[in-house]
Amino acid sequence: MDFQPTVQQDLLRKAVRQFAEDEIAPLVNEMEITDNTPTDLVRKMGEQGFMGVTIPVEYGGTGMGHLARMIMVEEVGRISAGIAMALQVMQMGAGMVIDLGSLAQKAEYSPLLAQGKILIAPAITESSGGSDLEGLSTRAVDEGDYYSLTGRKVFITNSHISELAVIVAKNEGGAKRDFSAFLIKNGTEGFRRGRVERKIGFHGCITGELIMENCRIPKENLFGEKGRGLAIALEGINNYGRMGMVGIALGLMQASLEASVKFAQERVLYGKPISNLAPIQFKIAEIYADLEASRFLAYNAAWLIDHKKKSDTQVSSAKFFSTEAALQCTRKAMDIYGAYGCMKDYPLERYCRDAQLLVPADGTNDIMRVIAGRNLAMKK
Ligand SMILES: Cc1cc2nc3c(=O)[nH]c(=O)nc-3n(C[C@H](O)[C@H](O)[C@H](O)COP(=O)(O)OP(=O)(O)OC[C@H]3O[C@@H](n4cnc5c(N)ncnc54)[C@H](O)[C@@H]3O)c2cc1C
Repeated sequence: MDFQPTVQQDLLRKAVRQFAEDEIAPLVNEMEITDNTPTDLVRKMGEQGFMGVTIPVEYGGTGMGHLARMIMVEEVGRISAGIAMALQVMQMGAGMVIDLGSLAQKAEYSPLLAQGKILIAPAITESSGGSDLEGLSTRAVDEGDYYSLTGRKVFITNSHISELAVIVAKNEGGAKRDFSAFLIKNGTEGFRRGRVERKIGFHGCITGELIMENCRIPKENLFGEKGRGLAIALEGINNYGRMGMVGIALGLMQASLEASVKFAQERVLYGKPISNLAPIQFKIAEIYADLEASRFLAYNAAWLIDHKKKSDTQVSSAKFFSTEAALQCTRKAMDIYGAYGCMKDYPLERYCRDAQLLVPADGTNDIMRVIAGRNLAMKK
C-alpha cells in the first residue's frame, strides 16, 4: 500500500489551491449576498480544464480521473462550498455524457463540456421525493418520430445556467422500473426553467426547477439505452454526485482545521493563547482525525471508481461518514471561536450552513446507510 500522493496529484492540489485562493476567495462575500454563480469564474474554470478532469484527452478533457477530481473538489470546497457544488455537478453531467452517452452525443458535446463552454445539469429529483426513484412522475411518451416529455424536476443544481439537461422520465405504459434518460437542450419548445430555491448555504450555486410541458425531444436525444434510465441515474450519482459531496466535506473540514488552529494561536486568555488549553487541543485533534479518516474513505472509493471496480458500499460509506464528520467539525471549529464564531465577519457560520446541505444532496445519509448496510449484511 502506498499512501504518498503522486507528483501529478501534488501539483494538481497546489495549482487548484492557488486558483481557489486567487480567483474564488475574493468572490465569496459577494456570492453570500447575491447567491449568483459568477459566469467569469465558470469560464476560467473551464479554460483551466476543471470540468474535464475525468474526460479523456481525445474528447478535450485532461483524463486525470476520479482521485484527481476528489482533490480538485476538496481544494475548491476549502474556499467555497457553493462553487465546489456547482463545479462537481458540472463534472458529473460531463462525466455522464462520456461514460453513458452515444458516440454521436460524445462527439457533439464532450469537447464543449470538458472546457466548460456549455454546462449540463443532471435532473432526477421530483417533489414526490428524491429517495423514491420509482415514484418519479415525469412521463415520456413515444410519439413515433419523437418523444414527448411532461413533468417537473426540483432541486436541480445549475438549473438556470446550464445549456443542457439529462432528464430521467418514466416510459408511458411501461413496467414499474421502466424509465429512460433524455438529453434536452435549453430553448427546446416546452422546456423551461422554474423557480430558484433560496438555500441556507452553498451560496454561489444556483438550485432550481426544470419544467417540461409536452416537450418534444428528437429520438437521437435518448440518453443511453431505452429502459435504463434508473441505472444511468444511479451510476452517475454514485460515481460523481456522491463523491462530489465527499470532496466538499473534505474541503470544509480542512478549512475548519486551519481556521481553528489559527484562531487558537491568536486568541489570548489568561495571558496565553487558547491553543494551550486541553479542551481546545482535543477539538482540534478530533477535527484532524475526522478529516483524515474521511480522506482515506474518499480516496479509496475514488481509486475503486478509477479502476472500474464495484464501489457503491465504499462510496455510500464515505458519503455518510464524511458529511456527518463535516457537520461535527464545522460545529467544533465554531465553538473554538466562542462568540466570534457566530458572527458573519468570520466564515465559521457559513461552513456550518454549507455542511448541513451535504446530508440530503445526492442521496440522504439514511439512504447511504441502507445501501452500504444492505450490501454488507446480505452479502453471501
Ligand atoms: C443542495 C442540493 C442540490 C441538489 N442537486 C440535485 C441535482 O442537481 N439533481 C437532482 O436530481 N437532485 C438534486 N438534489 C436533490 C437530492 O438528490 C434529494 O434532496 C435527495 O435525493 C433526497 O430527496 P428528498 O430531499 O426529496 O428527501 P426524501 O426522499 O423525501 O426523504 C425524506 C426523509 O426520509 C428519509 N428516507 C427516505 N427513504 C428512506 C428509506 N428507505 N429508509 C430510511 N429513511 C428514508 C430520508 O433520509 C429523509 O430523512 C439536490 C439536493 C440538494 C439539497
